[in-house]
Amino acid sequence: MRYVSTRGAAPDLGFEDVLLTGLARDGGLYVPERFPSFAEADWRSLRGAPYQAVAAAVMRPFIGDALSQADFAALVADSYAGFRHKSVAPLKQIGPNDWLLELFHGPTLAFKDYALQLVGRLFDRVLARGGRHLAILGATSGDTGSAAIEACRGRDSLDVFILYPHGRTSDVQRRQMTTVDAPNIHAIAIEGTFDDCQDIVKALFNDLDFRDRASLGAVNSINWARIMAQIVYYATAALSLGSPDRKVSFTVPTGNFGNIYAAYCAWRMGLPIERLVIGTNRNDILARFLKTGTMTVAEVEPSLSPSMDIQVSSNLERLLFELVGRDGPHLAHEMVEFRRTGSMTLDGNVMDEARRLFDAVSIDDPATLAAIARSWKESGEIIDPHSAVAVAAAKERRGDEKTPMVALACAHPAKFPEAVTRAIGRSAPLPPELGDLFERQERFTVLPNDAAAVQRFMSERLDLAPRRAGAA
Ligand SMILES: *Cc1c(COP(=O)(O)O)cnc(C)c1O
Repeated sequence: MRYVSTRGAAPDLGFEDVLLTGLARDGGLYVPERFPSFAEADWRSLRGAPYQAVAAAVMRPFIGDALSQADFAALVADSYAGFRHKSVAPLKQIGPNDWLLELFHGPTLAFKDYALQLVGRLFDRVLARGGRHLAILGATSGDTGSAAIEACRGRDSLDVFILYPHGRTSDVQRRQMTTVDAPNIHAIAIEGTFDDCQDIVKALFNDLDFRDRASLGAVNSINWARIMAQIVYYATAALSLGSPDRKVSFTVPTGNFGNIYAAYCAWRMGLPIERLVIGTNRNDILARFLKTGTMTVAEVEPSLSPSMDIQVSSNLERLLFELVGRDGPHLAHEMVEFRRTGSMTLDGNVMDEARRLFDAVSIDDPATLAAIARSWKESGEIIDPHSAVAVAAAKERRGDEKTPMVALACAHPAKFPEAVTRAIGRSAPLPPELGDLFERQERFTVLPNDAAAVQRFMSERLDLAPRRAGAA
C-alpha cells in the first residue's frame, strides 16, 4: 500500500515511512492511494470474531509488507491485552435501537488508547529495526497527550513532547500527563488554546531543517496509523448489529475530525453505514460548515467537553481531499487561502456530496448536562460530557428508527467529574489502577505561546547542536 499527500506535492510513501513521518512535507496529510474494499462475504466472515482478530484483518491491507502477518497479529493482540473489558469495545443498549459504543476501557480512559497503544508498539518495532530514535511531538486538548505518554513511556527509541493548553484541561487529564515519571516524557503547558498548541506543532513540522535534525514524529491524528486503528471499532460495532446485512448509523463527538474520518474510511471500505452524525459542542465550526458550505474560524470557547474545544479540525483536510476529487494542488491552494483569510467556501455540489453521508449538530453546555442527567435517569448509565454530546446529537438526528444508531462514548465519566457532578449530583469512581492519581507528583514545564521557545526547549532536551547561522 502506498500513501499520497492531500496537497499533491510530497513524495508517495509506504506504511513504515507514513508511520514515522506524520505531516507530509508539503503541509498535507497522508491518505491511502486507494481504499481497500471488503466484500460482504469478507465482513460476514469476521462476525463474532474477537476484537483483536477483526483489528488484524481490517488493518492488514494498510500495513502492506511492513510487518509479517503473524508479527502484526501478535502486536495487535499485545496492544489490547491490558484493556479492562474483555470485548475491548463493548456496545451497550441505551434505547430501543440506540447504542453506546464504549471506547474508554484502555489505560487512560479515552478512545485515544485504542489507536495509540498500537501506534506506540509500531513505532518501537520499526525504530528498533533501524536503530533509530524519534522525537514525538504532539498537541493535545487533553486525551491524546496522556494516551501517547502512556503508550510510549520508558521506550528508549522515543522522546515524547506533549503540548497542552495551560489551565484548559481537566485535572484528571492534566495529572495523567504530568505524573508519569519517565525520562523520555516531557509535558509542556502552553500559555494559549489548543489551536495555539496545534499551530506550534505544525510550525515545527514545517521547519524542515528542525524536523530532520530532531527526527520529529507525530502522534496526533495527522498520523495515518491512528486513523487506521480507529476504523476497527466501527467494524466490530456494525458487525455486532447485523452488518453487512443491515446498515448502521454512528454519531461521533468530534474535535479534530480524526475519529469520524475513520468512520468515513470504514464506509469507503464497504462497511454499510447509513449516516455519520458529527456532534460538536458550542465550537460549532463543522456544523456551520456542513450547513452553509462556508468554514469561518471563530475564537475557541471553553466548554464542558474540552477535548472538542477546537476550531480548525486537521483531519477535515482528508475528507476535503476526497470531496474535491483528490485534486491535491487545488486543495493546497484552498488550504493556504483558508490559513490566510480564515474562511473557505466550497461549491454546492461538493457540499451536497458531503451531506449525503454526513449530518452535524451542535450541543451546548446546558444540553450536554441535560443529556448526562437523562442518561442517568433513563438507563442508569453515567456518561461523560463528550459522550453526552454524542448521545444528544444522536437523539436529535435519529433518522430511520429501524437503523441502529450508535453513539460513541469516547471517555470514561471519571475523567470529567465536575461536569458529571453538576448534572447528577454525584461522580463516577476512577478505576482502581488510577485511584492514587491525585497523590502522585506532577512534573511539567510552562512555556509561552511561541514556536521558537518550544523549539529551544526541545533542542536542549534532545541535545541537538545549535543551528548554524543562515541555515534554512
Ligand atoms: C479526542 C477526543 C474527541 C475528539 O476526537 P477527534 O478525533 O479529534 O474528532 C472527543 N471526545 C473525547 C473524549 C476525546 O478524547
